[in-house]
Amino acid sequence: MPGIQHRSARGPTTNFEVVMALIVQKYGGTSVADPERIRAVAEHIAYTKSHGNQVVAVVSAMGKSTDNLINLANQVSKTHPGREMDMLLTTGERISMALLCMALADLGVEAKSFTGSQVGIITDTVHTKAKILEVKGDRVRAALDEGRVCVVAGFQGVSTDSEITTLGRGGSDTTAVAVAAALGADSCEIYTDVTGVFSADPRLVPQARKLGHIQFDEMLEMAGAGSKVLALRSVEFARNHNVPIHVRSSFTWEHGTWVTGDTARKGDGVEDPIVAGVVHDASESKVTVQAVPDKPGVSAALFEPLAASNVNVDMIVQNVSVKGTTDVSFTVPKADMKVAEKIVADVAKQIGAEGVTHDDNIAKVSLVGAGMKTSPGVAAKMFRVLAENDVNIQMISTSTIRISVVIAATDLEKAVRALHTAFGLDSGSAYSAPLPERK
Ligand code: ADP
Ligand code: ASP
Ligand code: MG
Repeated sequence: MPGIQHRSARGPTTNFEVVMALIVQKYGGTSVADPERIRAVAEHIAYTKSHGNQVVAVVSAMGKSTDNLINLANQVSKTHPGREMDMLLTTGERISMALLCMALADLGVEAKSFTGSQVGIITDTVHTKAKILEVKGDRVRAALDEGRVCVVAGFQGVSTDSEITTLGRGGSDTTAVAVAAALGADSCEIYTDVTGVFSADPRLVPQARKLGHIQFDEMLEMAGAGSKVLALRSVEFARNHNVPIHVRSSFTWEHGTWVTGDTARKGDGVEDPIVAGVVHDASESKVTVQAVPDKPGVSAALFEPLAASNVNVDMIVQNVSVKGTTDVSFTVPKADMKVAEKIVADVAKQIGAEGVTHDDNIAKVSLVGAGMKTSPGVAAKMFRVLAENDVNIQMISTSTIRISVVIAATDLEKAVRALHTAFGLDSGSAYSAPLPERK
């Protein structure tokens, strides 16, 4: 485990080496939800700095302010031009960064706030889910050299067309890891409202177990399967640039979960489990195109325009052809449904399909674990557990270290808990740290 954790930990930990490290700390929405929380974060930053570290803090918008801004947009307009959505949504993080610098000033810590654009976070031109192409970071480096704490607005950048962009929901994680990679930081701490990465979402499974460590590949699959604790792109960045991530709580400040390239499992009290975690995702809808002519080119005709419109298609199932036609089902994020619906309806007509239906009441449950590579039978056991709990499987997809099924949303809680128990992941005690309410 990187020694850096001793330098940045608060509380009873000893063994402080006063060696200067560069630490990027990201504070999520709940961690900066109100003035008291912002002052607590400022104190933790001051504490980290007082131990000889350089600190870059990346902040999210306060509490639910991004949701509130989206609601506001919904009340004003049906169209939501991407450029204007990004102008609107980036204001949330600007508020947090300025307030945090003010709280730091009260503690005598010299700090300077930066928008994504001022940091030189250059993205592509896809509004509302832009990808980071480059992080210049010159102004941040200069401010660090002057002995300042840098506070960076998460979730945003500036496109190659000089427009303000956002990185997709949860994108402040990506800002933090990308900035850590660009600056060559010693570690990236992701402060949130749970004490680490668990074997399942502790809000759904109180018996979930905190993992001491998880490897990039497993975390990548968990994030890809919909676990919100880290945004998918942040884990991709961390793996590609080998940035160790420490996921921990800004409510208890205790040591959390290390996400690194190290493949040895340690510290979670489970002897080499085959399954690291059960992941759920209720954010997708299922679309079915009925009676599609079964001939070459129809899938391309369907999925190419969706890709061109940046709709993230996830699971795809094509049923057996009956009398020359077949049903094609796939899942897309609910947030992309408006765009997807129109495209799919147009293509269905064009290719001579019978019709299109969609179902919002679905959920995806996944098992993730590097041990699956070498242990056959995980899928069979998963299906048996679901059957015994009377849960019907609508779709299945797999990777070498993940199995995902789509089920009815009403079965979600039952399925996740049953799988968690069946795969021996229950901790024996209910989640003990406070689970802050989301304001
Ligand atoms: P933040 O605002 O700090 O970025 P998020 O809501 O994005 O916080 O992510 C933290 C939440 O992720 C937790 O409150 C928890 O409900 C959820 N979560 C989902 N899966 C897991 C998991 N396996 N381990 C820990 N938390 C998880
Ligand atoms: N504020 C943004 C969101 O709510 C980004 C983030 O918090 O990571 O999605
Ligand atoms: Mg988040």
